[in-house]
Amino acid sequence: MPLRIDVITIFPDYFAPLQLSLMGKAQQSGLVTIAIHDLREFTSDRHRSVDDTPYGGGAGMVMTPEPWGQAIDAVVTDQSTLIVPTPAGKLFSQPVAAELAHSTHLIFACGRYEGIDQRVVEYYRPRIDVRELSIGDYVLAGGDVATLAMIEASVRLVPGVLGNPESLVEESHQLPGVEYPSYTKPPTWRGLDVPEVLLSGHHDQIARWRAEQSTIRTTHNRPDLLPGS
Ligand code: SAM
Repeated sequence: MPLRIDVITIFPDYFAPLQLSLMGKAQQSGLVTIAIHDLREFTSDRHRSVDDTPYGGGAGMVMTPEPWGQAIDAVVTDQSTLIVPTPAGKLFSQPVAAELAHSTHLIFACGRYEGIDQRVVEYYRPRIDVRELSIGDYVLAGGDVATLAMIEASVRLVPGVLGNPESLVEESHQLPGVEYPSYTKPPTWRGLDVPEVLLSGHHDQIARWRAEQSTIRTTHNRPDLLPGS
């Protein structure tokens, strides 16, 4: 069964890049199907409005629940996972991407403005798997870019999508820390040499060097990932 993904957004054009490269190939090979839906198609007023002022006051607008309910109802099944990108959500990570990759059906609800009326999450939570997910501790203008990031991270983990599944074994966040640095030809570039050990052909030494480099990089860039931290 291919992984089915439905994305609901007011900016369908944001998702054109999903036709390119690995994401495009994953769809062409039938491993994944992705459909993009315009939230405004599920409005009932002349202006196709999707937002209103917040109860309790405050700046900005909030997305109204009616079009969201209509749009989600049009695609939901009891197998669906509803993903609501929000900076207030749990942090999206490689283990979460792996879980999503093994799902049956993902629905992404791309918020804008100050976000989506919380009753949408409250309504679907007792009915299906609902996840409020953040891609990092910063605030984007909308959920579209966050959705693209989550789709790409998850789809590349769908079995069969990567030509060489070995690429997944030694990469950052699959290891205890982040990946070692990589080099390719030429052996010298602008006076900088590729580390000699990588040219040596000694697989044990190369593995040891890479493990050391991974620890050095993790200690420097992501000490929070070190075991016991
Ligand atoms: N008022 C919201 C808050 O402070 O939590 C921020 C709303 S933000 C301007 C608009 C939309 O962008 C959100 O509803 C969400 O869909 C998306 N968004 C912004 N930052 C995000 C992040 N770090 N991760 C996932 N989605 C994000």
